Amino acid sequence: MGSWSDFRRDSILVAGQWVSADNGGVLDVIDPATGESIGTVPNAGVAETRRAIESASAAFEKFSRTTAAERAKMLRDLSTAILDNQDALAELLTREQGKPLAEAKGEVGMSAAYILWFAEEARRVYGDTIPSPWGDRRILVTKSPVGVVGAITPWNFPSSMLARKIGPALAAGCTVVAKPASQTPYSALAWGVLAEQVGIPAGVINIITGSAREIGGELTSNPLVRKITFTGSTGVGKLLLKQAAETVKKVSMELGGNAPFLIFDDADLDRAVAGAVAAKFRNAGQTCVCTNRLYVQAGIYDRFLKAFSNATEKLVIGAGLEQGATLGPLIDDAAVAKVEEFMSDALGKGARVVTGGKRHPKGDRFYEATVLADANATMNFARDEIFGPIAPVFKFETEDEAVRLANDTEFGLAAYFYTQDLGRAFRVSERLQYGLVGINEGMITTEVAPFGGFKESGVGKEGSKYGVDDYLDVKYVCVGGLGL
Ligand code: ADP
Repeated sequence: MGSWSDFRRDSILVAGQWVSADNGGVLDVIDPATGESIGTVPNAGVAETRRAIESASAAFEKFSRTTAAERAKMLRDLSTAILDNQDALAELLTREQGKPLAEAKGEVGMSAAYILWFAEEARRVYGDTIPSPWGDRRILVTKSPVGVVGAITPWNFPSSMLARKIGPALAAGCTVVAKPASQTPYSALAWGVLAEQVGIPAGVINIITGSAREIGGELTSNPLVRKITFTGSTGVGKLLLKQAAETVKKVSMELGGNAPFLIFDDADLDRAVAGAVAAKFRNAGQTCVCTNRLYVQAGIYDRFLKAFSNATEKLVIGAGLEQGATLGPLIDDAAVAKVEEFMSDALGKGARVVTGGKRHPKGDRFYEATVLADANATMNFARDEIFGPIAPVFKFETEDEAVRLANDTEFGLAAYFYTQDLGRAFRVSERLQYGLVGINEGMITTEVAPFGGFKESGVGKEGSKYGVDDYLDVKYVCVGGLGL
C-alpha cells in the first residue's frame, strides 16, 4: 500500500468478494477540479443489494457472538490501518471530492479517531441489574446488536461519515451494507480494502455503489435490515423514514442544517472573524454544520464586515491537490447552479456584494468566497441551506431578536455565537434550539461529543458515549423460580 490508486476499487464488495454490477453497468467518478473522469464504479441495483443484505445477515450469526474484546481489537487495527495510510486515503478523497488536501487529511484523521473511540466503547456496552419488586425474581437488562444495518452516506465527508456508522455498528456487533454517494464512492470502497487488510470477516462490511433509488429502496424495505442510518438532505431523509416505516426499522438521521452564527457587540472581533471563516468556508461551505446565516449586532456590524471580508479574501482558491489551496471546487455543476440561484435571488432583493460574488477562472466548479451585506429574511438563504461559499450577513439590534431569528427555521443542527458576557453565554445557549452549540468556537466536531440535530435536522446521535445506543436493542430479562 502507499499510493492513492492502491485504494481505488472499481468493483463493489459483497460477501467478501469484489464484483461488478450484474448487468456490467458502470458510473463515472469525476474529479470536481477538472471535470475529468478518474475511473468508474459499478452501477448496481436491487439484486446486488439483496445479496449484500443476505451476506450481512449470514455474517451477523457469527459476528454478533464475537466478544467485545475481539471486536475492539478489529476496530483498533482498523483505526491504525487508516492512520498508516492517511496520505494515500486523503489524496483519493481529494481527487473525487475536491476539498483541499489538508482538509482531506484532517477528515481521514477524524475517521481513525471515530473508529478508535468506538473500539474503546465496544468494551463499555454495560447492562443493568434492577432492584426487583419480587423477592424470588431477579431483573436483568442486557444489550444486543440490532442486526444488519443499512448505511447511506453523502459526498461531503465521504470517509468520516462512514466511520461514524461503521464504528458503532461493529462495536455493537452489527453487520453493515453501506451505500455511498455516487459522486464519491472511492473513499467508501477504500473501507472495504482496509477491512480486508485487518481481517474483518467477509460479509461484515458490504459496500454497494449505484442507483440510490434502487439500493435505498431495497435497504429500507428488506426485513433482514433492522436499522437505517443516513446522513444527507432532509428531503431524502424524510423519504427514507417513510420507506423504513413499512418494516418498522430503527433509524438514525443526520439531515440538513441552517446554522446561525451570532456576533454580539461584546464579542472578541478577531476570534469571531477566524471562527466565521472556518465555520463558513471549510469544504467550500459544503457541510451541514457550515454557517448559513451570520447575524451581527448593530454596534459591531461595520467593523465585523470589514475584518471578515479581509480575512475571506486571504483564502486561496485552487484544486485540492494544489499546494496552499484553502478553497476547493464545489462538488458538481448542479451545486454551482444552486449557488448562483441563491446569489441572483439575494441580489434581486437588495443584498450587496462585499467581496467575491462570481465563478472563478480556475474552472467551471470554482466559486469565489463571497460575503454579502444587507441580507434580509425574505432571501432564500434565510430558510434554505446554501451548501456553498456564500456568507450572508444580517444586522440585528437585541439579544431577543437574535435568538428569535436564529431559531426561526425548521432545522436545528449547529449554531454558533460570540460574546464575552458569561450570563449571555448561558442565556443564549439555553434558548438556542440546536443539537450543537459553539460559544466563541467555530469548529466543534469531535468523536467524544454527541453529534445530532433537533427538529427536522435529525434523529439520534453519532459519536460520544451515546453513539452506540442506536445500534443496540435493550432486553429486559426476568428470572423467576429461583427458590429464594
Ligand atoms: P445531497 O443533496 O447532499 O447530494 P442527498 O440526500 O441527495 O444529499 O444524498 C445523500 C445520500 O443519499 C447519497 O448517498 C445519495 O445517493 C442518497 N440518496 C439520494 N436519493 C436517494 C433515495 N431516493 N433513496 C436512497 N438514497 C438516496
